[in-house]
Amino acid sequence: MVIYVSIAIRKFEEKDIPYKVNWINDKNNNKYLHYDLPLREDKTLIWYNSIKNRADRADYTITYNGEPAGLIGLINIDQKNKKAEYYICLGEEKYKGKGIAYTATKLLIDIAYYELKLNKIYLYTEIGNRSDQKLFEKVGFEKEGLLKDDLIYNRRKIDRYLYGLNLEKYINKTNVVNSSEIEKFNATPIHKLSEKLKNNNFYIKRDDLFPISFGGNKARKAMLFLEDIILKGCDYVVTYGSSKSNHCRIISNIAASKGIPCSIISPIETSKPNYNSKLIKFFGTEIKYCTISEVEETISKKIKELEYKGYIPYFIQGGGHGNIGTQAYVETYNEIKEYEKNNGLYFDYIFHASGTGTTQSGLICGQLINGDNRKIIGISIARKNPYGRQVVLNSVNDYLVSKGMDYVNFDFINFIDDYVLGGYGIYNYDILQTIKKVLIQDGIPLDTTYTGKAYWGMKEYIKKCQITGKNILFIHTGGTPLFFDDLEELTNE
Ligand SMILES: *Cc1c(COP(=O)(O)O)cnc(C)c1O
Repeated sequence: MVIYVSIAIRKFEEKDIPYKVNWINDKNNNKYLHYDLPLREDKTLIWYNSIKNRADRADYTITYNGEPAGLIGLINIDQKNKKAEYYICLGEEKYKGKGIAYTATKLLIDIAYYELKLNKIYLYTEIGNRSDQKLFEKVGFEKEGLLKDDLIYNRRKIDRYLYGLNLEKYINKTNVVNSSEIEKFNATPIHKLSEKLKNNNFYIKRDDLFPISFGGNKARKAMLFLEDIILKGCDYVVTYGSSKSNHCRIISNIAASKGIPCSIISPIETSKPNYNSKLIKFFGTEIKYCTISEVEETISKKIKELEYKGYIPYFIQGGGHGNIGTQAYVETYNEIKEYEKNNGLYFDYIFHASGTGTTQSGLICGQLINGDNRKIIGISIARKNPYGRQVVLNSVNDYLVSKGMDYVNFDFINFIDDYVLGGYGIYNYDILQTIKKVLIQDGIPLDTTYTGKAYWGMKEYIKKCQITGKNILFIHTGGTPLFFDDLEELTNE
């Protein structure tokens, strides 16, 4: 299990009172806070009941992996002048030095700007409180003045600085992209192939022409991830995968296109670079190599390090696995339906290359949502059953549950592992012949790892199962740079 560090803020609630009392009474925290000490739970409850519905303040609890970690909020909210006073107090020592205060402040700023529509937030800080001032300055607060003898606390006269932050300026500086800039593409084309095997009609859906970064299923998934990255206000992308993979090439490309820095955690590779890895370098992505057993640790270390530096990182699983990846192929399924409707056609079978199974689970979910009965057949390019099929099933059910639908069972999944040969990337003479034939007769590039292997597997399966006279759709899941990696081998023999 990868440990994801999550920092969030939520409304301060009654159940947070004991935490607040402990934190404020901790002498490591209250040096600069000016409370009447010790703070008591009963009085704090009275205070809480008196403030919880007030419109001139907004109090939040900071959580770290779900655990209360501190307090943050806005007081003196002044809608006429569109400003409010900001405060923050982290809890125990164990929460300090993790970048929590910084991330929580950025989250509060979003609320101040987008929900409360404020223009400015400001704060007062004792002149001796240098460590907090470092945080404020890192966020972007500017020192606006010195207020002499501003408070009297325990008979001590206190000088304070006033710091201010213009929210509009801040938001414009930090938001690299806004979601209205994300392009929605038209459906990819479907057209007929010259293939006539066993009197079937063959069609192909050209997801390799999905119009970004050499297309393919990873590009489709990536566009949905990009939307989510922007929605969540994240400013750093971390993903896992081979530095030779289509997934990492596309994630690097979309991140670079929006000026978002990107890191790839990749298993150590010994074979020579390919076109994907050259492109990834070209996009300026950082690649961190580690052994398979170090992957989880490396990912969580990288994410913590970024949060400490004040980034809001976004993690994408290898291959774009997960409900967002599945969603991409639910949408593809709907494009297929639309094509059928417009052309008076019905595909009895849909074939495609299946790897992590996200593409297949999306198609299956699309089929279930539409109540269709056709066969969706994933030709495994690496995994064997029952594991391969189980992963697809899990993805299908994860997605269905997220949409409030019922589970499906194992028999529903046609994950065919008869054509994986020796495993990932292994191909044979017949696959090379298939790729040559499709390129020559239809002008479409396939590759030995994914689409060529799946296309060959599809034909073998059709022969084996004696499928005749059907309409068959093959989804070209992309990977065009891999075709060029294979070109030498194709022209050699
Ligand atoms: C990743 C990939 C696949 C497999 O897709 P999954 O969703 O992981 O099953 C198929 N074809 C190409 C070209 C790919 O890059």
